[in-house]
Amino acid sequence: MSPKVEAEGIISKARGEGRSFLLEPEAKRLCALYGLPVTRFEVAKSEDEAVEAAERIGYPIVLKVVSPQILHKSDVGGVILNLRGEEEIREAYRRIHENVKSRVPEAVIEGILVQEMALSSTEVIVGAIKDPTFGPTIMFGLGGIFVEILRDVSFRLVPIERVDAEEMIREIRAYKILEGARGLPKADKETLIEILLKTSNMLMELPEISELDLNPIMVYEKGAKIVDARIILEKV
Ligand code: ADP
Ligand code: MG
Repeated sequence: MSPKVEAEGIISKARGEGRSFLLEPEAKRLCALYGLPVTRFEVAKSEDEAVEAAERIGYPIVLKVVSPQILHKSDVGGVILNLRGEEEIREAYRRIHENVKSRVPEAVIEGILVQEMALSSTEVIVGAIKDPTFGPTIMFGLGGIFVEILRDVSFRLVPIERVDAEEMIREIRAYKILEGARGLPKADKETLIEILLKTSNMLMELPEISELDLNPIMVYEKGAKIVDARIILEKV
């Protein structure tokens, strides 16, 4: 199956369930289809399945709630990080169910996302929104305060080419951080360029994507990992 055909299948399944957004495992699957480096993950439907998935993926592990009613998982106690063994998985599995049941009683829990815990590093964000006049645009910035407070981001209309991706990375004011200023790890720029190009390609092939948020992406000296992915679909 081509990436586009499988991706369209995921999108129409979400539509069929009356959703105009993808759940994290769906969004990450879409990203993986287009070659983007997401954390390894599986969806577990029971405590035993969560333990089996964790052993396949390897510790440390992160558990997250998968629910159509919950867009901000950590706000409701739906994300537990850094689990290091079967007992911790079982305990966290139950704790997420309790947290979600008490804080969002109407939420339907479709499963628990079991995923690889990415080592912390410099955090970047890749996003996309549709400009009402010009169409899909792609955004790049550093994570946390850089985007939220300083709005230190770069934008381009898609599709972009390699030179555009290079410029997007170089033109943010915090670029020196990616260069490894003050003893910070130097970011793998080639991987960042690839992420921007592959995201642009995904946006071109899937016009149903109205908004995308890969946030955060941990960038290492070699490689990167997308830790959370959110995709909003066009209104129908
Ligand atoms: P939310 O729906 O609340 O945005 P996230 O999936 O983004 O939930 O998780 C909240 C935070 O937990 C992330 O911003 C990140 O700091 C951390 N986190 C989540 N998943 C992972 C992971 N697989 N590896 C490392 N850190 C993670
Ligand atoms: Mg998040």
